[in-house]
Amino acid sequence: MPRPAQRTRSRKRSPKRLPGGGATMHYKKEKTGAPRCARCSRVLSGIPGLAQSKMGKLTASQKRVQRMHGGQLCHACLKDLLKLAVRERPV
Ligand SMILES: [Zn+2]
Repeated sequence: MPRPAQRTRSRKRSPKRLPGGGATMHYKKEKTGAPRCARCSRVLSGIPGLAQSKMGKLTASQKRVQRMHGGQLCHACLKDLLKLAVRERPV
């Protein structure tokens, strides 16, 4: 029986032969998706798509782009939202 952490089908499995003729299973790490824009789902550039355990080891500037809503919105969505905000602002 595999360990509880390996009992998920989202881990790739590769069967391996052992020198004595037996067989065992090796498990690959789960794939992580690229970070995406919260509004249009475009892949965000400049941010690595690492597992949460690895993201914690990065510095703050490696986890986000240095602009408003960097790491949440793409540049095009931020541009749209800033335009809307300025146009709707009372003068
Ligand atoms: Zn976007």
